[in-house]
Amino acid sequence: MSQGNPLSTPAPDWHARAANLACDGRMLIDGKRLEAADGDTFRCESPIDARLLCLAARGRKADIDSAVRSGRVAFEQGRWSRKPPAVRKKILQRWSELILAHKEELALLETLDMGKPIRESLSVDVPSAARCIQWFAEAADKQYGEIAPTGPQALALITAEPVGVVGAIVPWNYPLIMAAWKLGPALALGNSVVLKPSEKSPLTALRLAELAVQAGLPEGVLNVVPGYGQEAGEALAMHPDVDVLAFTGSTRVGKQMLIYAGQSNLKRVYNELGGKSAFMIFPEVGDLGRAARTVAGSIFYNQGESCNAPSRVLVHESLAEELVQRVVREAARYSPGDPLAPDTSMGAMVDAAQTQTVLNYIASGLQEGARCLHGGRQVRIETGGFFIEPTVFDGVTPLMRIAREEIFGPVLSILTFSSEQEAIAIANDSPYGLQASVWSDNINQAHRVAQALKVGTVHVNQYDEDDITVPFGGTKQSGNGRDKSLHALSKYTNLKTTWVRIDSA
Ligand code: NAD
Repeated sequence: MSQGNPLSTPAPDWHARAANLACDGRMLIDGKRLEAADGDTFRCESPIDARLLCLAARGRKADIDSAVRSGRVAFEQGRWSRKPPAVRKKILQRWSELILAHKEELALLETLDMGKPIRESLSVDVPSAARCIQWFAEAADKQYGEIAPTGPQALALITAEPVGVVGAIVPWNYPLIMAAWKLGPALALGNSVVLKPSEKSPLTALRLAELAVQAGLPEGVLNVVPGYGQEAGEALAMHPDVDVLAFTGSTRVGKQMLIYAGQSNLKRVYNELGGKSAFMIFPEVGDLGRAARTVAGSIFYNQGESCNAPSRVLVHESLAEELVQRVVREAARYSPGDPLAPDTSMGAMVDAAQTQTVLNYIASGLQEGARCLHGGRQVRIETGGFFIEPTVFDGVTPLMRIAREEIFGPVLSILTFSSEQEAIAIANDSPYGLQASVWSDNINQAHRVAQALKVGTVHVNQYDEDDITVPFGGTKQSGNGRDKSLHALSKYTNLKTTWVRIDSA
């Protein structure tokens, strides 16, 4: 915004808006906002300053049963599943436009509920969610079936049919985006969805669903039930009438999803789970300064609460000293501040429990002999919110907990290696396989290492590229599903073959 221009719009006063914001934590079932069947609620508090945002409906089995029944009825009646794809496309496009029209409201809600800086909610979370819905809307009427090459005596038609009712369970770190990654493809193909957002940040998913109804999504096609994992989440995952479970969250709970499926109806499970991504810097790195900026920007973004955060740097020993100095300088640019201030680069951790988890990891790093070169403390305690400094450890060895376990906070571990083989061995010695980054201007080395890494995505000489056209997901205990791109569509369809006999004349 140009300074002093009388025609320019003044920046919103986010504090004033936050004070006047009415939050609605009721469920959305059959197009209506409802209390839980037993009237129970849970406190939805902002991690920024512990203010009470609202009492959200505490969904349990009875509520999940109603939501799944509503989704099933909508599906079988064909309210959405049998609409022409071009009609579904139009409605989803309208929904995407409505999301953008409510950008400031949604961004504020996201920041208050989850703690991330308002500038990121505004510039990343809301537009990415809208773009995802719009992109899958476009795909709705561009899916073709196949005819198998069986010969002239018969016709074998292969069609991809919507599965029916999808159960989607998502985490708290990108509430809008994670919901959109499930809803876009599942709804574009005609499914009904029951969405269970995290109890730590349920508000934007509810508002998103309300906007879908406003855009013309028929009642019952999208139902949202807030609640706890072991109550609403387990009831949804165990439900005998849910056909596919699309889960994003921790590896621990992802394993539980497979058990639930086995104990109920063998629903298909797609897991998108945790990570411990390696950022590998080789002697032929072209620009060490950019590498340092990129690693800091990626690990401290979203307070380190990103599944794909590059939480382990593996640097060749010849570059270690210089890299460490540069990363520490970069870390200083990310001090936690007021998430509602437009220039804040790091916001609040999602809650007290996650803050304690991260502090425990910092303590374990110190106990195991790593050196904390920057940060390491909880700050802004006087605000009532939960803030942790960007934290950099060096002297980390591969067996330390901070080198092996997902911390899910702004904590970077720097390890060294002496050969390409050793770097690959350390990177792959992890239960996780989500992402990795290779920094080398030696094209043979970059490709060699990329091929050897057991992960879903390898970045070469960057970490920030991201596009809805590209699949996102991992290998090993980072999961099996792929969100985004046309590959995501296959999760929400069943392949059907129809044989048609052709008699000779
Ligand atoms: P979590 O596993 O604790 O919870 C995720 C969701 O599952 C929440 O909605 C929660 O209520 C629900 N849940 C918890 N226990 C349950 C149970 N027993 N039965 C059914 N549902 C249950 O994860 P989180 O703390 O919300 O999110 C952080 C994790 O998510 C990190 O591990 C992160 O790496 C991962 N994540 C992965 C991706 C990806 O695309 N791979 C993206 C974002 C986050």
